[in-house]
Amino acid sequence: MDVPTQAHLKTLRDLLGYRLVELRAEVHAAEQERQSLGEAADAGVSDRKDEAMKAQLSALSAQQEERDRDELREVEAALRRLDSGTYGDCESCAEPIPLKRLLVQPAAARCAGCQARLEGAPRFTS
Ligand SMILES: [Zn+2]
Repeated sequence: MDVPTQAHLKTLRDLLGYRLVELRAEVHAAEQERQSLGEAADAGVSDRKDEAMKAQLSALSAQQEERDRDELREVEAALRRLDSGTYGDCESCAEPIPLKRLLVQPAAARCAGCQARLEGAPRFTS
């Protein structure tokens, strides 16, 4: 069968739980970093080259932070679906998401077909 059993659901919940902790730590670290960057800038000790480098770095980490926050939301939503018993159903077509996909991407809210349609074209990020 291609439908998650209780044991699978337990595994998936664990995976989501670990990822949640990881993502929260990453987002927290990013916030701290932004704070310390801000303080360094306030101190006015950097020259123009430093500023450019710092702006680039903070743009990068802002992107990373944004991705982390997005994923965090997805993971939280998946955990809520686990609690409410709707986990593993595609949000778009309500068909069960194949177990194979869930094990690779426990936070997936849609089957591969619906996700691809939603995104239009494959995205090439990073
Ligand atoms: Zn679907």
